[in-house]
Amino acid sequence: MNVFDQYEVWFVTGAQLLYGGDAVIAVDNHSNQMVEGLNASGQLPVKVVYKGTANSSKEVENVFKAANNDEKCIGVITWMHTFSPAKMWIHGLQQLKKPLLHLHTQFNKEIPWDTMDMDFMNLNQSAHGDREFGHICTRMRIRRKVVVGHWQDKDTQHKIAVWMRVCAAWADSQDMLIIRFGDQMNNVAVTDGDKVEAEQRMGYHVDYCPVSELMSYHKQIKDEEVEALVKVYFDSYEHDNALEDKSTEAYRKIWNSAKAELALRAILEAKGAKGFTTNFDDLGDVDVDQTGNGFDQIPGLASQRLMAEGYGFGAEGDWKSAALYRSVWVMNQGMPMGCSFLEDYTLNFDGANSSILQAHMLEVCPLIADAKPRLEVHFLGIGIRKSQTARLVFTSKQGKGVTATVVDLGNRFRLIVNDVECIQSKPLPKLPVASALWIPMPNFEVGAGAWILAGGTHHSCFSYDLTSEYWEDYAEIAGIEMVHINKDTTIGEFKKELRMNEVYYMLNKALM
Ligand code: MN
Repeated sequence: MNVFDQYEVWFVTGAQLLYGGDAVIAVDNHSNQMVEGLNASGQLPVKVVYKGTANSSKEVENVFKAANNDEKCIGVITWMHTFSPAKMWIHGLQQLKKPLLHLHTQFNKEIPWDTMDMDFMNLNQSAHGDREFGHICTRMRIRRKVVVGHWQDKDTQHKIAVWMRVCAAWADSQDMLIIRFGDQMNNVAVTDGDKVEAEQRMGYHVDYCPVSELMSYHKQIKDEEVEALVKVYFDSYEHDNALEDKSTEAYRKIWNSAKAELALRAILEAKGAKGFTTNFDDLGDVDVDQTGNGFDQIPGLASQRLMAEGYGFGAEGDWKSAALYRSVWVMNQGMPMGCSFLEDYTLNFDGANSSILQAHMLEVCPLIADAKPRLEVHFLGIGIRKSQTARLVFTSKQGKGVTATVVDLGNRFRLIVNDVECIQSKPLPKLPVASALWIPMPNFEVGAGAWILAGGTHHSCFSYDLTSEYWEDYAEIAGIEMVHINKDTTIGEFKKELRMNEVYYMLNKALM
Protein backbone atom coordinates (compact mmCIF):
# COMPACT_ATOMS: atom_id res chain seq x y z
CA MET A 1 0.00 0.00 0.00
CA ASN A 2 1.09 3.52 -0.79
CA VAL A 3 1.67 5.43 2.48
CA PHE A 4 -0.47 8.29 1.21
CA ASP A 5 -3.58 6.18 0.56
CA GLN A 6 -4.60 6.19 4.23
CA TYR A 7 -4.80 9.98 4.30
CA GLU A 8 -6.99 12.78 2.97
CA VAL A 9 -6.82 16.55 2.85
CA TRP A 10 -9.98 18.56 3.38
CA PHE A 11 -11.01 21.45 1.16
CA VAL A 12 -13.17 24.14 2.75
CA THR A 13 -14.55 27.00 0.69
CA GLY A 14 -15.27 30.30 2.36
CA ALA A 15 -18.44 32.14 1.37
CA GLN A 16 -21.25 34.03 3.04
CA LEU A 17 -25.01 34.25 2.70
CA LEU A 18 -25.07 37.96 1.78
CA TYR A 19 -25.56 37.19 -1.90
CA GLY A 20 -28.38 34.69 -1.40
CA GLY A 21 -28.73 30.93 -1.65
CA ASP A 22 -28.17 30.81 -5.40
CA ALA A 23 -24.69 32.24 -4.96
CA VAL A 24 -23.83 29.56 -2.40
CA ILE A 25 -25.08 26.86 -4.78
CA ALA A 26 -22.84 28.25 -7.53
CA VAL A 27 -19.89 28.42 -5.12
CA ASP A 28 -20.54 24.83 -4.17
CA ASN A 29 -20.69 23.76 -7.79
CA HIS A 30 -17.41 25.52 -8.64
CA SER A 31 -15.70 24.05 -5.56
CA ASN A 32 -16.82 20.56 -6.52
CA GLN A 33 -15.40 20.97 -10.00
CA MET A 34 -12.13 22.29 -8.60
CA VAL A 35 -11.69 19.44 -6.13
CA GLU A 36 -12.55 16.89 -8.81
CA GLY A 37 -10.06 18.58 -11.12
CA LEU A 38 -7.33 18.57 -8.48
CA ASN A 39 -7.90 14.88 -7.77
CA ALA A 40 -7.96 14.03 -11.47
CA SER A 41 -4.76 15.99 -12.17
CA GLY A 42 -2.55 13.07 -11.16
CA GLN A 43 -0.28 15.62 -9.47
CA LEU A 44 -1.47 15.20 -5.88
CA PRO A 45 -0.34 12.26 -3.73
CA VAL A 46 -3.21 12.62 -1.25
CA LYS A 47 -6.92 12.66 -2.03
CA VAL A 48 -8.69 16.01 -1.61
CA VAL A 49 -12.13 15.80 0.00
CA TYR A 50 -14.50 18.70 -0.47
CA LYS A 51 -16.22 19.59 2.81
CA GLY A 52 -18.61 22.19 1.50
CA THR A 53 -18.89 25.91 1.97
CA ALA A 54 -18.45 27.59 5.33
CA ASN A 55 -20.85 30.51 5.59
CA SER A 56 -20.78 31.36 9.28
CA SER A 57 -18.60 31.26 12.36
CA LYS A 58 -20.40 28.14 13.57
CA GLU A 59 -19.90 26.31 10.28
CA VAL A 60 -16.19 27.16 10.27
CA GLU A 61 -15.79 25.97 13.85
CA ASN A 62 -17.69 22.75 13.16
CA VAL A 63 -15.65 21.78 10.11
CA PHE A 64 -12.30 22.57 11.76
CA LYS A 65 -13.23 20.62 14.90
CA ALA A 66 -14.23 17.70 12.69
CA ALA A 67 -10.86 17.97 10.90
CA ASN A 68 -9.05 17.82 14.23
CA ASN A 69 -10.88 14.66 15.21
CA ASP A 70 -10.62 12.83 11.90
CA GLU A 71 -7.55 10.59 11.81
CA LYS A 72 -7.51 10.42 8.03
CA CYS A 73 -7.49 14.20 7.69
CA ILE A 74 -3.86 15.42 7.65
CA GLY A 75 -4.46 19.01 6.62
CA VAL A 76 -7.01 21.59 5.53
CA ILE A 77 -7.03 23.73 2.38
CA THR A 78 -9.08 26.92 2.55
CA TRP A 79 -10.10 29.15 -0.33
CA MET A 80 -12.41 32.16 -0.30
CA HIS A 81 -14.67 32.07 -3.33
CA THR A 82 -16.63 35.13 -2.29
CA PHE A 83 -15.74 37.74 0.24
CA SER A 84 -15.88 35.92 3.57
CA PRO A 85 -15.73 38.37 6.47
CA ALA A 86 -12.84 37.03 8.47
CA LYS A 87 -14.16 37.49 11.98
CA MET A 88 -16.23 34.43 11.21
CA TRP A 89 -12.98 32.42 10.95
CA ILE A 90 -11.60 33.44 14.38
CA HIS A 91 -13.16 30.75 16.55
CA GLY A 92 -12.48 28.01 14.03
CA LEU A 93 -8.86 29.03 13.54
CA GLN A 94 -8.42 29.08 17.31
CA GLN A 95 -9.46 25.43 17.30
CA LEU A 96 -7.65 24.15 14.22
CA LYS A 97 -4.82 21.76 15.06
CA LYS A 98 -4.18 20.38 11.58
CA PRO A 99 -1.79 21.97 9.06
CA LEU A 100 -3.38 24.74 7.02
CA LEU A 101 -2.86 25.63 3.35
CA HIS A 102 -4.45 28.82 2.10
CA LEU A 103 -4.98 28.54 -1.63
CA HIS A 104 -5.24 31.92 -3.34
CA THR A 105 -6.84 30.99 -6.60
CA GLN A 106 -9.97 31.65 -8.63
CA PHE A 107 -12.45 29.39 -10.43
CA ASN A 108 -12.10 31.12 -13.78
CA LYS A 109 -8.61 31.47 -15.17
CA GLU A 110 -9.02 34.65 -17.19
CA ILE A 111 -11.33 37.62 -16.87
CA PRO A 112 -14.41 37.07 -19.08
CA TRP A 113 -14.07 40.56 -20.49
CA ASP A 114 -17.13 40.58 -22.71
CA THR A 115 -19.63 38.96 -20.37
CA MET A 116 -18.56 39.99 -16.89
CA ASP A 117 -21.30 41.78 -14.97
CA MET A 118 -22.05 42.62 -11.33
CA ASP A 119 -23.54 39.15 -10.68
CA PHE A 120 -20.23 37.67 -11.74
CA MET A 121 -18.39 40.06 -9.46
CA ASN A 122 -20.60 39.24 -6.50
CA LEU A 123 -19.77 35.58 -6.95
CA ASN A 124 -16.07 35.58 -7.86
CA GLN A 125 -14.29 37.55 -5.18
CA SER A 126 -11.19 35.60 -4.20
CA ALA A 127 -8.98 38.54 -5.18
CA HIS A 128 -10.17 40.39 -2.09
CA GLY A 129 -11.73 37.53 -0.13
CA ASP A 130 -8.40 35.73 0.20
CA ARG A 131 -6.72 38.93 1.45
CA GLU A 132 -9.34 39.28 4.17
CA PHE A 133 -8.70 35.67 5.19
CA GLY A 134 -4.93 36.17 5.04
CA HIS A 135 -5.23 39.15 7.33
CA ILE A 136 -6.94 37.26 10.11
CA CYS A 137 -4.43 34.38 9.85
CA THR A 138 -1.55 36.84 10.13
CA ARG A 139 -3.20 38.76 12.95
CA MET A 140 -3.78 35.48 14.82
CA ARG A 141 -0.22 34.30 14.05
CA ILE A 142 -1.60 31.19 12.36
CA ARG A 143 1.19 29.19 10.72
CA ARG A 144 0.22 28.14 7.21
CA LYS A 145 1.38 27.74 3.63
CA VAL A 146 0.04 30.31 1.19
CA VAL A 147 -0.10 28.99 -2.37
CA VAL A 148 -0.89 31.48 -5.12
CA GLY A 149 -1.81 30.34 -8.62
CA HIS A 150 -4.59 29.02 -10.79
CA TRP A 151 -5.81 25.67 -9.52
CA GLN A 152 -5.34 24.00 -12.92
CA ASP A 153 -1.75 25.19 -13.21
CA LYS A 154 0.90 22.48 -12.74
CA ASP A 155 3.11 24.73 -10.58
CA THR A 156 0.20 25.44 -8.24
CA GLN A 157 -0.62 21.75 -8.01
CA HIS A 158 3.05 20.96 -7.36
CA LYS A 159 3.11 23.35 -4.38
CA ILE A 160 0.03 21.67 -2.97
CA ALA A 161 1.61 18.25 -3.59
CA VAL A 162 4.76 19.26 -1.69
CA TRP A 163 2.69 20.41 1.27
CA MET A 164 0.65 17.20 1.18
CA ARG A 165 3.77 15.05 1.40
CA VAL A 166 4.94 17.13 4.36
CA CYS A 167 1.51 16.82 6.00
CA ALA A 168 1.74 13.04 5.61
CA ALA A 169 5.18 13.00 7.23
CA TRP A 170 3.84 15.27 9.97
CA ALA A 171 0.84 13.05 10.65
CA ASP A 172 3.17 10.05 10.64
CA SER A 173 5.46 11.68 13.20
CA GLN A 174 2.64 12.46 15.63
CA ASP A 175 2.67 8.87 16.84
CA MET A 176 6.25 8.12 15.95
CA LEU A 177 7.96 5.75 18.35
CA ILE A 178 11.75 5.64 18.10
CA ILE A 179 13.46 2.81 19.97
CA ARG A 180 16.98 3.25 21.25
CA PHE A 181 19.01 0.07 21.57
CA GLY A 182 21.73 1.37 23.84
CA ASP A 183 22.24 5.01 24.76
CA GLN A 184 23.89 7.86 22.86
CA MET A 185 27.54 7.36 22.09
CA ASN A 186 29.23 8.58 25.25
CA ASN A 187 30.20 12.25 25.41
CA VAL A 188 28.66 13.20 22.05
CA ALA A 189 26.78 16.51 22.30
CA VAL A 190 25.19 17.13 18.92
CA THR A 191 23.18 13.91 18.70
CA ASP A 192 21.72 14.39 22.17
CA GLY A 193 18.88 16.68 23.15
CA ASP A 194 15.64 17.21 24.99
CA LYS A 195 13.38 14.25 24.28
CA VAL A 196 10.47 15.78 26.18
CA GLU A 197 10.56 18.94 24.08
CA ALA A 198 10.97 16.85 20.92
CA GLU A 199 7.75 15.01 21.71
CA GLN A 200 5.87 18.26 22.38
CA ARG A 201 7.25 20.01 19.33
CA MET A 202 7.64 17.30 16.70
CA GLY A 203 5.69 14.34 18.01
CA TYR A 204 8.54 11.87 18.43
CA HIS A 205 8.28 9.53 21.38
CA VAL A 206 11.74 8.19 22.14
CA ASP A 207 12.08 5.08 24.31
CA TYR A 208 15.00 3.09 25.55
CA CYS A 209 14.95 -0.68 25.02
CA PRO A 210 17.49 -2.92 26.71
CA VAL A 211 19.48 -4.98 24.23
CA SER A 212 18.60 -8.02 26.39
CA GLU A 213 14.96 -7.55 25.32
CA LEU A 214 16.03 -7.41 21.67
CA MET A 215 17.91 -10.65 22.31
CA SER A 216 14.73 -12.33 23.52
CA TYR A 217 13.39 -11.77 19.97
CA HIS A 218 16.73 -12.82 18.46
CA LYS A 219 16.52 -16.19 20.20
CA GLN A 220 13.11 -16.90 18.71
CA ILE A 221 14.13 -16.41 15.09
CA LYS A 222 13.92 -19.74 13.28
CA ASP A 223 16.72 -21.05 11.09
CA GLU A 224 14.34 -21.45 8.11
CA GLU A 225 13.51 -17.73 8.24
CA VAL A 226 17.19 -16.89 8.27
CA GLU A 227 17.91 -19.24 5.35
CA ALA A 228 15.14 -17.61 3.35
CA LEU A 229 16.46 -14.11 4.02
CA VAL A 230 20.03 -15.10 3.13
CA LYS A 231 18.64 -16.31 -0.20
CA VAL A 232 16.99 -12.89 -0.68
CA TYR A 233 20.38 -11.27 -0.08
CA PHE A 234 22.12 -13.43 -2.66
CA ASP A 235 19.28 -12.89 -5.15
CA SER A 236 19.19 -9.13 -4.60
CA TYR A 237 22.81 -8.05 -4.43
CA GLU A 238 26.01 -8.45 -6.37
CA HIS A 239 28.44 -10.68 -4.47
CA ASP A 240 31.38 -13.02 -4.84
CA ASN A 241 30.13 -16.56 -5.30
CA ALA A 242 32.60 -17.63 -2.59
CA LEU A 243 30.29 -15.95 -0.06
CA GLU A 244 27.72 -18.67 -0.71
CA ASP A 245 30.10 -21.34 0.58
CA LYS A 246 28.42 -22.38 3.80
CA SER A 247 31.67 -23.59 5.37
CA THR A 248 33.20 -20.10 5.48
CA GLU A 249 33.24 -17.50 8.21
CA ALA A 250 31.96 -14.93 5.69
CA TYR A 251 28.83 -17.01 5.06
CA ARG A 252 28.27 -17.34 8.80
CA LYS A 253 28.57 -13.56 9.16
CA ILE A 254 25.96 -13.02 6.45
CA TRP A 255 23.73 -15.63 8.05
CA ASN A 256 24.06 -13.90 11.45
CA SER A 257 23.34 -10.54 9.81
CA ALA A 258 20.11 -11.91 8.41
CA LYS A 259 19.17 -13.20 11.84
CA ALA A 260 19.90 -9.78 13.35
CA GLU A 261 17.68 -8.13 10.71
CA LEU A 262 14.81 -10.51 11.49
CA ALA A 263 15.18 -9.87 15.23
CA LEU A 264 15.23 -6.09 14.77
CA ARG A 265 12.22 -6.12 12.46
CA ALA A 266 10.31 -8.40 14.85
CA ILE A 267 10.82 -6.17 17.88
CA LEU A 268 10.11 -2.97 15.92
CA GLU A 269 6.86 -4.48 14.63
CA ALA A 270 5.90 -5.78 18.08
CA LYS A 271 6.40 -2.35 19.61
CA GLY A 272 4.91 -0.41 16.69
CA ALA A 273 8.14 1.55 16.32
CA LYS A 274 8.90 3.61 13.22
CA GLY A 275 12.60 3.95 13.82
CA PHE A 276 15.54 2.91 15.95
CA THR A 277 19.06 3.71 16.96
CA THR A 278 21.98 1.44 17.69
CA ASN A 279 25.21 1.84 19.62
CA PHE A 280 28.30 -0.10 18.63
CA ASP A 281 29.29 -0.45 22.30
CA ASP A 282 26.09 -2.27 23.22
CA LEU A 283 25.43 -5.43 21.20
CA GLY A 284 24.31 -7.84 23.91
CA ASP A 285 26.43 -10.33 25.85
CA VAL A 286 30.15 -9.86 25.57
CA ASP A 287 30.66 -13.63 25.46
CA VAL A 288 28.26 -13.95 22.58
CA ASP A 289 29.92 -17.07 21.20
CA GLN A 290 29.18 -18.89 24.44
CA THR A 291 25.69 -17.55 25.16
CA GLY A 292 24.22 -16.62 21.80
CA ASN A 293 22.65 -13.63 23.59
CA GLY A 294 24.29 -10.99 21.49
CA PHE A 295 25.02 -9.83 17.95
CA ASP A 296 28.36 -11.13 16.69
CA GLN A 297 28.83 -7.95 14.61
CA ILE A 298 27.31 -4.49 14.34
CA PRO A 299 23.95 -5.06 12.59
CA GLY A 300 24.83 -2.61 9.82
CA LEU A 301 23.37 -4.59 6.93
CA ALA A 302 20.10 -4.83 8.87
CA SER A 303 20.10 -1.06 9.41
CA GLN A 304 20.72 -0.46 5.70
CA ARG A 305 17.83 -2.68 4.66
CA LEU A 306 15.43 -1.47 7.34
CA MET A 307 16.12 2.14 6.29
CA ALA A 308 15.17 1.25 2.72
CA GLU A 309 11.92 -0.21 4.10
CA GLY A 310 11.14 3.06 5.84
CA TYR A 311 12.38 2.56 9.36
CA GLY A 312 14.07 5.64 10.72
CA PHE A 313 17.66 5.03 11.65
CA GLY A 314 20.31 6.98 13.52
CA ALA A 315 23.73 5.58 14.36
CA GLU A 316 25.37 5.95 17.78
CA GLY A 317 22.05 6.63 19.50
CA ASP A 318 21.16 9.58 17.26
CA TRP A 319 17.37 9.51 17.78
CA LYS A 320 16.76 12.91 16.17
CA SER A 321 18.29 11.69 12.92
CA ALA A 322 16.34 8.42 13.16
CA ALA A 323 13.08 10.37 13.45
CA LEU A 324 13.95 12.88 10.75
CA TYR A 325 15.03 10.13 8.36
CA ARG A 326 11.65 8.45 8.83
CA SER A 327 9.96 11.73 7.88
CA VAL A 328 12.22 12.09 4.84
CA TRP A 329 11.35 8.54 3.76
CA VAL A 330 7.60 9.27 4.05
CA MET A 331 7.90 12.49 2.03
CA ASN A 332 10.06 10.67 -0.52
CA GLN A 333 7.60 7.86 -1.21
CA GLY A 334 7.16 7.01 -4.88
CA MET A 335 9.98 9.31 -5.94
CA PRO A 336 12.72 8.01 -8.20
CA MET A 337 16.12 8.92 -6.70
CA GLY A 338 16.03 8.00 -3.02
CA CYS A 339 17.09 9.12 0.44
CA SER A 340 19.51 8.13 3.19
CA PHE A 341 20.98 8.84 6.59
CA LEU A 342 24.55 10.03 6.00
CA GLU A 343 27.60 11.25 7.87
CA ASP A 344 30.21 13.81 6.87
CA TYR A 345 33.08 11.39 6.53
CA THR A 346 36.14 13.04 5.05
CA LEU A 347 36.99 16.13 3.02
CA ASN A 348 38.38 16.47 -0.48
CA PHE A 349 40.04 19.83 -1.11
CA ASP A 350 39.98 20.38 -4.84
CA GLY A 351 39.49 24.09 -5.57
CA ALA A 352 36.01 24.88 -6.85
CA ASN A 353 35.12 21.18 -6.73
CA SER A 354 36.04 20.76 -3.05
CA SER A 355 33.63 18.23 -1.66
CA ILE A 356 32.70 16.04 1.29
CA LEU A 357 32.61 12.27 1.18
CA GLN A 358 29.34 11.16 2.76
CA ALA A 359 29.34 7.68 4.22
CA HIS A 360 29.18 5.73 7.44
CA MET A 361 31.11 2.74 8.65
CA LEU A 362 28.12 0.60 7.58
CA GLU A 363 24.76 2.32 7.69
CA VAL A 364 23.93 4.05 4.42
CA CYS A 365 20.57 3.42 2.78
CA PRO A 366 20.72 1.51 -0.52
CA LEU A 367 17.89 3.66 -1.94
CA ILE A 368 20.55 6.17 -3.08
CA ALA A 369 22.75 3.59 -4.83
CA ASP A 370 23.62 4.24 -8.47
CA ALA A 371 23.63 0.53 -9.27
CA LYS A 372 22.85 -2.78 -7.63
CA PRO A 373 24.64 -2.76 -4.22
CA ARG A 374 27.34 -5.28 -3.55
CA LEU A 375 27.16 -7.56 -0.50
CA GLU A 376 30.59 -7.82 1.11
CA VAL A 377 32.10 -9.01 4.38
CA HIS A 378 35.10 -7.20 5.87
CA PHE A 379 36.73 -6.73 9.22
CA LEU A 380 35.47 -3.76 11.23
CA GLY A 381 37.62 -2.84 14.20
CA ILE A 382 35.30 -0.49 16.08
CA GLY A 383 33.04 -0.92 19.08
CA ILE A 384 32.61 -3.70 21.58
CA ARG A 385 32.77 -6.46 18.97
CA LYS A 386 35.59 -6.13 16.47
CA SER A 387 34.63 -8.62 13.81
CA GLN A 388 34.18 -9.54 10.20
CA THR A 389 31.00 -7.61 9.30
CA ALA A 390 28.52 -7.84 6.44
CA ARG A 391 27.47 -4.68 4.62
CA LEU A 392 26.15 -3.34 1.31
CA VAL A 393 28.76 -1.39 -0.64
CA PHE A 394 27.88 1.11 -3.38
CA THR A 395 28.40 4.64 -4.59
CA SER A 396 25.49 7.00 -4.94
CA LYS A 397 23.81 8.56 -7.94
CA GLN A 398 24.91 11.95 -9.20
CA GLY A 399 22.54 14.89 -8.99
CA LYS A 400 21.17 17.69 -6.89
CA GLY A 401 19.55 17.07 -3.52
CA VAL A 402 18.94 18.50 -0.11
CA THR A 403 20.18 17.41 3.29
CA ALA A 404 18.73 18.31 6.68
CA THR A 405 19.29 17.93 10.38
CA VAL A 406 17.64 19.06 13.60
CA VAL A 407 19.76 20.26 16.51
CA ASP A 408 18.76 21.20 20.03
CA LEU A 409 20.05 24.67 20.92
CA GLY A 410 18.90 24.49 24.52
CA ASN A 411 15.95 26.88 24.11
CA ARG A 412 14.68 25.54 20.77
CA PHE A 413 15.16 23.12 17.91
CA ARG A 414 16.82 24.40 14.76
CA LEU A 415 16.29 22.71 11.41
CA ILE A 416 19.33 23.20 9.21
CA VAL A 417 18.90 22.56 5.50
CA ASN A 418 21.62 22.56 2.86
CA ASP A 419 21.22 22.20 -0.89
CA VAL A 420 23.94 19.88 -2.14
CA GLU A 421 25.12 18.43 -5.42
CA CYS A 422 26.32 14.84 -5.57
CA ILE A 423 29.20 14.49 -7.98
CA GLN A 424 31.00 11.51 -9.46
CA SER A 425 32.75 9.61 -6.72
CA LYS A 426 35.72 7.28 -7.08
CA PRO A 427 36.19 3.66 -6.07
CA LEU A 428 37.43 3.11 -2.52
CA PRO A 429 39.18 -0.27 -2.83
CA LYS A 430 40.52 -0.13 0.73
CA LEU A 431 37.42 1.41 2.35
CA PRO A 432 34.49 -0.91 1.63
CA VAL A 433 31.61 1.38 2.64
CA ALA A 434 28.63 2.88 0.83
CA SER A 435 29.17 6.52 0.00
CA ALA A 436 28.17 9.68 -1.77
CA LEU A 437 30.39 12.64 -2.69
CA TRP A 438 28.83 16.07 -2.58
CA ILE A 439 29.53 19.75 -2.86
CA PRO A 440 27.44 21.71 -0.37
CA MET A 441 25.93 24.84 -1.89
CA PRO A 442 26.97 27.52 -2.63
CA ASN A 443 30.41 25.91 -2.43
CA PHE A 444 32.37 23.82 0.04
CA GLU A 445 33.86 26.77 1.93
CA VAL A 446 30.61 28.69 2.51
CA GLY A 447 28.33 25.65 2.74
CA ALA A 448 30.40 23.82 5.35
CA GLY A 449 31.16 27.10 7.15
CA ALA A 450 27.51 28.08 7.44
CA TRP A 451 26.52 24.57 8.57
CA ILE A 452 29.17 24.69 11.32
CA LEU A 453 28.10 28.21 12.40
CA ALA A 454 24.50 26.98 12.62
CA GLY A 455 25.64 24.17 14.93
CA GLY A 456 24.76 21.37 12.50
CA THR A 457 25.45 17.70 13.10
CA HIS A 458 27.91 15.43 11.33
CA HIS A 459 24.84 13.22 10.68
CA SER A 460 22.11 14.35 8.29
CA CYS A 461 19.11 13.08 6.36
CA PHE A 462 19.53 13.40 2.62
CA SER A 463 17.19 13.14 -0.34
CA TYR A 464 17.68 13.71 -4.06
CA ASP A 465 13.97 14.18 -4.63
CA LEU A 466 13.07 16.72 -1.96
CA THR A 467 13.82 20.43 -2.10
CA SER A 468 14.03 23.15 0.50
CA GLU A 469 10.31 23.85 -0.10
CA TYR A 470 9.47 20.61 1.73
CA TRP A 471 11.55 21.70 4.69
CA GLU A 472 10.03 25.17 4.70
CA ASP A 473 6.60 23.57 4.93
CA TYR A 474 7.83 21.19 7.62
CA ALA A 475 9.31 23.98 9.77
CA GLU A 476 6.13 26.04 9.33
CA ILE A 477 3.93 23.18 10.51
CA ALA A 478 6.23 22.25 13.40
CA GLY A 479 6.81 25.85 14.39
CA ILE A 480 10.56 25.41 14.56
CA GLU A 481 13.40 27.53 13.28
CA MET A 482 14.78 26.72 9.86
CA VAL A 483 17.92 28.01 8.25
CA HIS A 484 18.57 27.22 4.61
CA ILE A 485 22.07 27.19 3.16
CA ASN A 486 21.81 27.58 -0.61
CA LYS A 487 23.36 29.07 -3.74
CA ASP A 488 22.77 32.61 -2.47
CA THR A 489 24.19 32.13 1.04
CA THR A 490 27.00 34.38 2.20
CA ILE A 491 28.63 33.95 5.59
CA GLY A 492 28.02 37.57 6.53
CA GLU A 493 24.28 37.48 5.85
CA PHE A 494 23.97 34.02 7.37
CA LYS A 495 25.54 35.18 10.64
CA LYS A 496 23.07 38.08 10.72
CA GLU A 497 20.19 35.65 10.24
CA LEU A 498 21.43 33.46 13.10
CA ARG A 499 21.69 36.50 15.39
CA MET A 500 18.23 37.78 14.40
CA ASN A 501 16.74 34.34 14.98
CA GLU A 502 18.34 34.20 18.39
CA VAL A 503 16.35 37.31 19.39
CA TYR A 504 13.17 36.23 17.59
CA TYR A 505 13.00 32.84 19.26
CA MET A 506 13.86 34.24 22.67
CA LEU A 507 10.90 36.62 22.37
CA ASN A 508 8.70 34.01 20.76
CA LYS A 509 9.34 31.61 23.64
CA ALA A 510 8.42 34.35 26.11
CA LEU A 511 5.13 34.98 24.26
CA MET A 512 4.11 31.30 24.07
MN1 MN B 1 28.05 8.37 12.94
